[in-house]
Parts: sequence; C-alpha cells; structure tokens
Amino acid sequence: MTSVKAYAAQSADKPLAPFSIDRREPGADDVEIKILYCGVCHSDIHTARNEWGGSTVYPVVPGHEIVGKVTRVGGNVTRFKEGDTVGVGCFVDSCMHCANCERDLEQYCLNGNTQTYNSLSQDKKSITYGGYASHIVVTQHFVLSVSDKLPLEKVAPLLCAGITTYSPLRRWGVKAGDKLAVVGLGGLGHMAVKLAASMGAEVTMLSRSKSKEKDAAELGAHHFKLTTDKETMNGLASSFDFIIDTVSAAHDYNEYLNLLKTDGVMVLLGAPPEPTPVAAFPFILGRRSLVGSLVGGVKETQEMLDYCAERNITSDVEVININQINEAYERTLAGDVHYRFVIDMATL
Ligand code: NAP
Ligand code: ZN
Repeated sequence: MTSVKAYAAQSADKPLAPFSIDRREPGADDVEIKILYCGVCHSDIHTARNEWGGSTVYPVVPGHEIVGKVTRVGGNVTRFKEGDTVGVGCFVDSCMHCANCERDLEQYCLNGNTQTYNSLSQDKKSITYGGYASHIVVTQHFVLSVSDKLPLEKVAPLLCAGITTYSPLRRWGVKAGDKLAVVGLGGLGHMAVKLAASMGAEVTMLSRSKSKEKDAAELGAHHFKLTTDKETMNGLASSFDFIIDTVSAAHDYNEYLNLLKTDGVMVLLGAPPEPTPVAAFPFILGRRSLVGSLVGGVKETQEMLDYCAERNITSDVEVININQINEAYERTLAGDVHYRFVIDMATL
C-alpha cells in the first residue's frame, strides 16, 4: 500500500477537504498512474452530496475524468510503460466474463462493474476512490491510451462527458443530415454538440440560459432555442430525429418527447435524483422511443479518444486548483460552467 494525497467529502453537507488514501501496490496486471488532470463531472456532485438514493459511502473521493502518466507497471502489462500518457474513465474493473463484458459493454457488467469511485471492488470488499488524488492504480484492461497531440487538460473530460455523448450517437446511428437536439449546455451538453456536429447532424441547442446562445454557436450548434419560452417549444413540435437530454435536475420529459418526429429517439443521459412521470400519448401517437445510456465500454472509449485526436475535438475547460473545488461545485450547480472544470492535480 502507498499512502497518497487526495480530496474527499466526509459527509453530504461537508465541503471537500484534503485527505489521504491508500493505493494498492501495482499487481501483475496493474498500471500505476500519476494523475495530471481530473475533470469535474456533475455525477461527482450528485455522489459527494449523496443525492442518488443514499448510495454514497463516506469518505468519498470523486473524479472519473482522469489523465496522467504511467509511473509503474506490473509484470503482465504489455500495452503500457513508464512515462506513457493514459486515461481512466468511469469504471476500473468488471467481471470480464458475463455476456455484456464479452460484448465490450463492461459498463453494463451483469455481475456489477466497479466504478472509479464509491463502488465495490471486484473482491467485493473495498470501496474505490477516484481521481481527486495524486495517483491511481488500475488493472490494464481499463486503462486508455491518450494522444500527446492534444492539450491534456482538455482531453480529461472526454473520459466521461466525451464517451457518454459519443456512445449513444453511435448506438443510434446519428448521421449527416439528421436533426438532433441537445438539452442542457453543460459538460455533457457541450460535448454532445461538438460530437454530433462532427458527425454531420444539424444540431439545435435547447437551453434555459439565453446567455449561452453565442457559445452554443461557437461549439457547432446550428440553432439555439430557449426552453423557457412556451411558444418556441410549441413551434418545435415533431422536428427532431434525436434528442440528447443532459439535464442534471428533474424536468418534464413529456415536453421534449413531443418535439420528436415519428420514430424519433430521446436519449436520457442526465441522471436527476427524482423520478419524472411520463404519459403514454407522446409515445403512441408518434411511435417515439425514450431510452437511456451509460458512459461507454473500454473499446468504444478508446475509439472515441482516437476519433477526437484525429479531428482535434477536445473539451472547453476552466482549469482550477484543487482548493477551488467547492467553489467549482457551486458554480456548476448555478449553471456557471464553461464548459467543464478540470483540476490541475499539481496543486494537490
Ligand atoms: P452540468 O455541466 O452541470 O450540465 C447540466 C446542464 O443541465 C446545465 O448546464 C443546464 O444547462 C441544465 N440544467 C441544470 N439544472 C437544470 C434545471 N434545474 N432545469 C433545467 N436545466 C437544468 O452537468 P454534466 O456534468 O453535464 O452532467 C449532466 C447530468 O448527466 C448529471 O445528472 C450527471 O450525473 C449525468 N451523467 C450521466 C452519465 C451517463 O452515463 N448517463 C455520465 C455522466 C454524467 P442550460 O443552462 O443550458 O439549461
Ligand atoms: Zn461523469
């Protein structure tokens, strides 16, 4: 065990503060990584504040948008060596043999995957600690190769916000000419706009924040519509092939379902703590679908990183020191994020 510096929340109502955690000595299949940057996902906030059905185990060290350098590798590790630039996303282990793991869908591991933080390890004993830390040790299958071509602080958010938006765009076959709306312009939303536009979709930003209109255009959105304007929303009925919903707080899905064309698909990515009722009619009348999607598998995450490296696609970030993390949480909750906070781990 090596004791390393980290930042943790000790309870739902306490700010994050310095903490030390133990990382295991790298085993034969392990990669030890010195963390350079870690993005701040809204899931970190939901978890630190125990908003998802009381599932948080304290102390919790959040962080699952990790980019760093390999410091040590175990004897079986062939894909990585000391000094390599690598990434770690939302999960760090899974059973590796269930039907979903065999289909490269480790995120849906039928025996329970191990998420990067606040999650039971595969030994079913210890709870994982995430990327708000100086180092992490991860089994090689779950370590991603990161190109040195792009600024690493802007690459970090691809490990969650990037793959979470890329995966459904691929799964539902978004292509040139499709009319696609993104709801909520935050970390996930801004990556959804960039990625969907890169695939040739005609992208409409649906936001409650008029102040983000100019940014949406710069990110690649072709249109911007204010969701708080009833008339605007009525005028958008039956216009989209796809809606990617990234909103973090409870909102009325029915309003958006009606904006889908016949056979249109609305993908829920945002994970509000409270459930929202949906009516049968928007589905029946337009043969519409409401689906969800969880991050992406290891293989697809590597594909997304390579896709972004080839096309120069990165996240728009505001780099912060670790001691600004609590302020960053408040600003994220206030919708004042442009468009991902990323912690410079050298300040830990
Ligand atoms: P974020 O940066 O805070 O962005 C969320 C956006 O939602 C805000 O910028 C805002 O956009 C909109 N919004 C927030 N509160 C709202 C409200 N009360 N009413 C209407 N709109 C509101 O968060 P994020 O990091 O992108 O994460 C978004 C959600 O996705 C979170 O719930 C997170 O846990 C979840 N998530 C899911 C997955 C997955 O695998 N499915 C992965 C990562 C994160 P506007 O100002 O433009 O309206
Ligand atoms: Zn995330």
